[in-house]
Amino acid sequence: MADFTEARLKALGAKTERRKVVRGAGADIVIGTFEGSGHKKLMLMGHMDTVYERGILGSQPYKVDGERIYGPGIADDKGGIAVVLHALKILKEAGWKDYAKLTVLFNPDEEVGSIGSGELISDIADQHDFVLSCEPTVAAPAAKNDALLLGASGTATGKMEVKGRASHAGAAPQLGRNALTELAHQLLQTRDVAKSIPGTQMNWTMAQAGKVRNQIPESATAGADIRVTVKDGLQRLQAALNEKVKDKLIPDTETTITIEAGRPPFVATDRGRLLALEGKEIYAEIGRTLDIAEMTGGATDAGYANRGGKAVVVESFGLAGYGYHARDEYIDAGSIVPRLYLMTRMLTELCKRK
Ligand SMILES: [Zn+2]
Repeated sequence: MADFTEARLKALGAKTERRKVVRGAGADIVIGTFEGSGHKKLMLMGHMDTVYERGILGSQPYKVDGERIYGPGIADDKGGIAVVLHALKILKEAGWKDYAKLTVLFNPDEEVGSIGSGELISDIADQHDFVLSCEPTVAAPAAKNDALLLGASGTATGKMEVKGRASHAGAAPQLGRNALTELAHQLLQTRDVAKSIPGTQMNWTMAQAGKVRNQIPESATAGADIRVTVKDGLQRLQAALNEKVKDKLIPDTETTITIEAGRPPFVATDRGRLLALEGKEIYAEIGRTLDIAEMTGGATDAGYANRGGKAVVVESFGLAGYGYHARDEYIDAGSIVPRLYLMTRMLTELCKRK
């Protein structure tokens, strides 16, 4: 995919570069840069990876059935990449160069949290005025209309560690401090803490304690899945958890909870909202309705792009699709022309601004 997209960007006249992801599988991020004659700096992004196993085409091959085109990853996010490449081709053929700079970024690790590309996305996004991110929009019949997206939750991992004291479980249990029992206490009393902090959600999903049956366990750990939709959510959650774990069931045990932030939440700014509203007007020009979607539980790289708050960021400029991360993924071919219209009109309009 990196070879393919880089070649296509070169053919469109971009200067291209490849960057290795800083963590993870060692795949390449592809960056294409176009220099124009205008004042605005625009960035378009999408991701090259999918969630499927190698060989998936054996059981779920590419196929066309009426308006639906099936294929693993076709909507999430090959459709987004296609919108970028084809919109730029249309604009090139029209001789459009009204930007100061136009940057295209395709990353290879979105589905694993962009752990190796997120910081770069954040840095590059901050050097632009507008970032249009090209994840799919939900196709009919699941959604009535195509949409642009203004919010997505961020992710984090919680880890609870309980330190107790080991002892012979048969001969001297009273000398031990049972980390497993304390862990159970702490899991119960922290399970609803996130409910009192708006914009956060935490669920304990993993636990481990004890190595052998006849020893009072000296350590126990648990892991939590955390979602966050507000900027300071993780800090507030951490503070509340720190307070809560002070209440011990077993004296002399020590419990700590640490939170490791993953992808930041995407919460569009007011300027992002205005841009999405302009998308609605553009869609109306071709007799279609565009919805504004406020928040999704899935995470997106728009969170990294939006984190610095410098660029105006809006998500879901990709094609309308369905079944991603599931089965029988498809795109609605009827969305191709409207989406290319939206992207090309949006780019040209953005560059007309003072
Ligand atoms: Zn995606």
